[in-house]
Amino acid sequence: MRFFAIGFGQAGSKILDLFVDNEKQRGAGIKHNVLAINSARTDLLGLRHIDHKDRILIGQTLVKGHGVGTDNKLGAKVAQEDIETILSAIDERGTHDVDAFLIIAGLGGGTGSGGAPVLARYLSEMYAEPVYAVGILPAPEEGKLYSLNAARSMITLLKYVDNLILVDNGAWKFEGASLKESFARINEEIVRRLTILARAGEPIEEGMVGEMVVDSSEVINTFKGGGISSIGYATTTAEPEKKKKFGFSLFKKSREEASFEEDKSMKIASLVRRAALGRLSVPCNIRSAERALVLVAGPPEHLDRKGIEKAKLWLEDQIAGVEVRAGDYPTRKTKYVAALVVLANVTDIPRVKQLQKLAVEAREEVEDAEKIRLEKTLELFDEDIDPLF
Ligand code: GDP
Repeated sequence: MRFFAIGFGQAGSKILDLFVDNEKQRGAGIKHNVLAINSARTDLLGLRHIDHKDRILIGQTLVKGHGVGTDNKLGAKVAQEDIETILSAIDERGTHDVDAFLIIAGLGGGTGSGGAPVLARYLSEMYAEPVYAVGILPAPEEGKLYSLNAARSMITLLKYVDNLILVDNGAWKFEGASLKESFARINEEIVRRLTILARAGEPIEEGMVGEMVVDSSEVINTFKGGGISSIGYATTTAEPEKKKKFGFSLFKKSREEASFEEDKSMKIASLVRRAALGRLSVPCNIRSAERALVLVAGPPEHLDRKGIEKAKLWLEDQIAGVEVRAGDYPTRKTKYVAALVVLANVTDIPRVKQLQKLAVEAREEVEDAEKIRLEKTLELFDEDIDPLF
């Protein structure tokens, strides 16, 4: 699955930077196109792995490289003003090899929160490829303004994207660590998921045979519909195989061999269950998902068709719809077996409801505060003095 991945704003660019590094380190050889976009010059300079030519500073006339603060309306405005620059940068890099656009942004801030929906709108109008967004939700302790930004950004994004994959910073904050300290680890978790997703439909390493291949079109079919998705992930170490000691019968599997295979398939099935029921990118009710996708990656001798099929049947029972796609991706470049579960178009997401409520409260408080401030300022000048003009 080849992405045209765009990191918008600080969080989005940092996550993209890590994704680029990860793909290089793994020697994955999948050619993604990337762009980091920001209105803050220093944030762009802080990136380490994205080429300088793939970094775009926007809003120079309006904010002069200093960023938009947490004003996402200004974020949307600077994106709109410089949309031609962004679109020609995308065009120059080419889109003919691209399976989907992926816009990554923190929804609680300014540049990414305001800019991502503007870009999504243009991309969805101009290109046939699907447009996905990875939206990072603010943690509750970041306050109501961040909630208001996130709610506004989300509602606008949902008008234009083919899917919005949510990540909840609040749910992902690590025990005993501050939110800022958790960022690096949260970003790693996001990138792990994106990396596996990117493997779908890509050529397998030489000498490997995938038993159940998932094509990029199946990922696209899973995500279609314009809803919100959550992604689960779990890993286990791939223990060295003990299979060599089995007796050799040409026609029948020995009892040990059968039990070994059974064990392997149980392991895969339980790994997938762990991914679906464990830490999801945004906590949600699995029973409200319309579709699901399972991808299992790891050394080939640890992948098991029966296990994946078992997991698929189990997921079909769990979700609201019946469409579950599943496949494997054999690779020697890891000592782990990893399972990714996409729960597509989920509708029961408590954090989104909560954000909505906080956003309404924030908007009312802002309006009230503005009214009171106006009244009080006028009271300061209650003597009858005429203005100059
Ligand atoms: P922008 O540069 O104006 O788009 O603002 P940010 O990208 O910094 O967005 C702010 C939101 O993103 C807040 O809710 C932060 O909690 C979150 N955020 C900022 N940096 C990171 C990061 O590296 N990782 C994650 N997961 N969230 C981040």
